[in-house]
Amino acid sequence: MSSPTSVAVIGGSLAGLSAARALRTQGYAGRLTVVSQEPHRPYDRPPLSKAFLAGTATRDDLVLEGEGEDLDADWLLGVTAESLDTSTRSVGLSDGSRMTADAMVLATGAVPTMPWQPLGGVHVLRTLEDCLALRADLLPGARVVVVGAGFIGAEVASTAHALGHQVTVVEAAATPLIGPLGPEMGAVISSLHADHGVTLLTGVGVSELVGTDRVSGVALSDGRVIAADVVVVGVGVRPATGWLSGSALTSPMGVLCDAYGATAVPGVVAIGDCATWFEPHHGTHHRLEHWTAARERADIAIATLLSAGQDHRVARPPYFWSDQYGLTIQMAGHATGADSVRVEDGAVADRDFLAVYRRGDVAVAVLAIGHRKAFTRWRRELAQSASPSVSTL
Ligand code: FAD
Repeated sequence: MSSPTSVAVIGGSLAGLSAARALRTQGYAGRLTVVSQEPHRPYDRPPLSKAFLAGTATRDDLVLEGEGEDLDADWLLGVTAESLDTSTRSVGLSDGSRMTADAMVLATGAVPTMPWQPLGGVHVLRTLEDCLALRADLLPGARVVVVGAGFIGAEVASTAHALGHQVTVVEAAATPLIGPLGPEMGAVISSLHADHGVTLLTGVGVSELVGTDRVSGVALSDGRVIAADVVVVGVGVRPATGWLSGSALTSPMGVLCDAYGATAVPGVVAIGDCATWFEPHHGTHHRLEHWTAARERADIAIATLLSAGQDHRVARPPYFWSDQYGLTIQMAGHATGADSVRVEDGAVADRDFLAVYRRGDVAVAVLAIGHRKAFTRWRRELAQSASPSVSTL
């Protein structure tokens, strides 16, 4: 594909903004349009389960754009992309118009899964509006039940606890966080709830939410009912790719990409929570739901778009952090590929440790509470030592 003269970025949050920035910093001077379903300029989501939910961060603290930053882009705020014709790279928009571009960046993120009918007092947490609605419901004395002990559920539990609420976390798996951390470290991190007097019920599902207009309890699959004034459902997200149905780009895993963000359609790249990149350090496709991936991989995808695949810089292994109960948990790499995990510094009992995951004697991931310097060194080493196998789609 020759150099594009028009680029459309679909999705105007962290990944979309990062793509728009990367286009300009990498020398693209043509027409740039950002289509954003939300009516807001890009804002940061991590504080929505932490300081903004707690009321200690303001709306201004969420702003992602720099003061006076001007990317010379047309921002179509409050407009949803509803369909994509990949043969002409043209997008049908919710305002009735159609937009065609030489190149396209898909950055539509993810939407929370909600298995139950909505009731008053029941929340998911993805957007600013979700957070404001939850905050408004966290009245003094409200009993909070969090369904799902993943990172967002755990952070909401921690914040609600800090606000003085009685909190119960319900998790269907026997051990929370097995997916990202494995059973041993999943158990360690989820024990933070008990440290702070938050009840964690594991190995039990939710059969229904009880209540007529407003929730009054959570019925568990073992017959128990937990009284609740507020329920936060954090049972995962799905990629926001429904609008791509019928195109060559859909898959239940999100938009399938190679290790550089290229999709099956020339001139179309995908980044952030909607995209499933080939992970060269792991040898499989993986959809990451991490802030740093949405931010950093935009640079790689835009290089792919502008240089028709000439740039072969490989993404760093995944990284995320989570703030819970006053502690910052950091993880880098792919723990799923490990056959052992060992605490190499500090002690789990002190909630201050660094653990290294290995496959054979090769380090594949690192997890830490505290130990920031050592963690950063390990993170760098993981990126350098693993010999990536790069595939296309
Ligand atoms: P999103 O932020 O979901 O943005 C996608 C945008 O596209 C949205 O504005 C959406 O409305 C829009 N869109 C969707 N469909 C369309 C369409 N058809 N047309 C136009 N626009 C569309 N990560 C960490 O690493 N650490 C953390 O501590 C952490 N905390 C988090 C806390 C919360 C509460 C949440 C929700 C996420 C957290 N994350 C964290 C994850 C991180 O915020 C995400 O990985 C990141 O926001 C992904 O950015 P994105 O731009 O890909 O997707």
